[in-house]
Amino acid sequence: MTEIAYDKANSILELRGIGEKRKQILDIIDTQMNLSDLKSDPILQQIEESLFGIDVTRNKTEEKFYLRDHVVEEMSRLDESDYLRYLRYRYRYDIYPILHKTEKYPPLVQIEPTSICNYRCVFCYQTDKRLTDKKNGHMGVMGLDLFKKIIDQLEGNIEGVTLASRGEPTVNKKLPEFLQYMTGKFLATKVNTNAYLLDEEVMHAILQADLQTLVFSADAASEPLYSKLRVNGNLDRVSKNIEYFYHIKENQYPSSKLITRVSGVSYNSDQDIGEMERFWRQYVDQVAFVDYNPWENVYDAAKKYVDHPCSDLWRRMFIWWDGRVAPCDVDYLTTLSTDTITVNTIPEIWNGENYKRLRDNHLSGRRSTMEPCSRCVVV
Ligand code: SF4
Repeated sequence: MTEIAYDKANSILELRGIGEKRKQILDIIDTQMNLSDLKSDPILQQIEESLFGIDVTRNKTEEKFYLRDHVVEEMSRLDESDYLRYLRYRYRYDIYPILHKTEKYPPLVQIEPTSICNYRCVFCYQTDKRLTDKKNGHMGVMGLDLFKKIIDQLEGNIEGVTLASRGEPTVNKKLPEFLQYMTGKFLATKVNTNAYLLDEEVMHAILQADLQTLVFSADAASEPLYSKLRVNGNLDRVSKNIEYFYHIKENQYPSSKLITRVSGVSYNSDQDIGEMERFWRQYVDQVAFVDYNPWENVYDAAKKYVDHPCSDLWRRMFIWWDGRVAPCDVDYLTTLSTDTITVNTIPEIWNGENYKRLRDNHLSGRRSTMEPCSRCVVV
């Protein structure tokens, strides 16, 4: 299960000392930017104007870009020499969905190491037998060769790579090799896990992989609520794994820049945010909630008639374990796309006929004629 969108992590509870970090980062960016770079790079021009209010182009920017708290936290752990590279990525991620702008590659690609999950969370599409019934062909595990083929296309072309989507990444025993292969190639890397199968080998692989963010999915800090929401889960086992990970990180990787986060789905009124914060904050840097979207039954949910174009069509691409491409993981049965990277390249797909049709429909007020877009609340 993935976070609905990273923007929704604005519900991260209390990032300490963020004001001072923001000031330091802005000072460094200010000295790194020079006018000759700005003249030749339209994205840097926009960033300069948005962050510092300086109209270098003499034109008004269409949309303001600013450093959200979690972006400040991410940048504070980067080498200063990577700041401008990272800002270009963040600008594309935040602003291109507003401008409805595309380039050759999407700002971020989510790769699912597997569609199989050991949990059956109440709010998750893993409860839908149309997905999990093996005879329907949706269940499987990505091979190392396909993963390398994807990473080879992405290296040097994008910064955002997330390993997670419909399944639990640690189910794929090749995950340590995946992490090793992508190490040092991207600035904004993330893995999501429910932490149930997190063993010592995977912990070390994560800590050696130069990963930016590790998200532990958990929506409660006590039983029986945890197991009621995370069906097949076990809070005792998961919290011991997360605590053990914390100790390995602190004792064996003291210079690790990894950000750890517990992220839950805000699902019902029994969830106590204060208890979540007190319990998980012992072991992780951040505690966050994302909004609930009816992932578990989107194809059967009532129509929502949301008019706004969906940001995912300009923000990120999903690649399933078998190479099939989807515009989102709300469409977990892959009804919106027939694309596959075993036939076409990522730029061919991102700028191809299927994506063009999807974007055109969303931009021209025909979102409600598309399924499951008409029943989905993502904007
Ligand atoms: S179902 Fe449609 S509207 Fe919802 S996230 Fe996917 S592409 Fe966007």
